[in-house]
Amino acid sequence: MKFRRRSVKWVGLAACALLLCAWIGAFWSALGYQANTVAVNLSVGCFEISLFPKSSPKHGWFAVWQPYETYWLPKIIHGRFNAARTTHLFMPLWIPLLIVGVATILAFKHDRQFGPDHCQTCGYDLHGAEHEKCPECGNEYTTPI
Ligand SMILES: [Zn+2]
Repeated sequence: MKFRRRSVKWVGLAACALLLCAWIGAFWSALGYQANTVAVNLSVGCFEISLFPKSSPKHGWFAVWQPYETYWLPKIIHGRFNAARTTHLFMPLWIPLLIVGVATILAFKHDRQFGPDHCQTCGYDLHGAEHEKCPECGNEYTTPI
């Protein structure tokens, strides 16, 4: 339990860094993968899913460097791009970045709140305690205090 909480904040921090890079990168590029009737990519500051009515002749990874217009809000566009009747779903990357960022900040704050001599669930001071469970909330701790 303690280990999981500790690692969560670092995973969160790494995810924030990745999302930030992806978001900034997606302002100036389109990077993604084209399969038969579906393409997933990062562009216009969004994670984009494109659905095509017919199987595309182009398959595989693609990357284009050029400044695009940026979408700040989730958006659905029908048939406005290169091919007719395509559907494009846009999820701006600042939304997952904000969610993961807030969760990571909370994880860091929580970690500071409860020191090594405290129950990591409720913060109860376990200094000198000889129980295997927290007397306050019943959380079992695995590392000796
Ligand atoms: Zn507790």
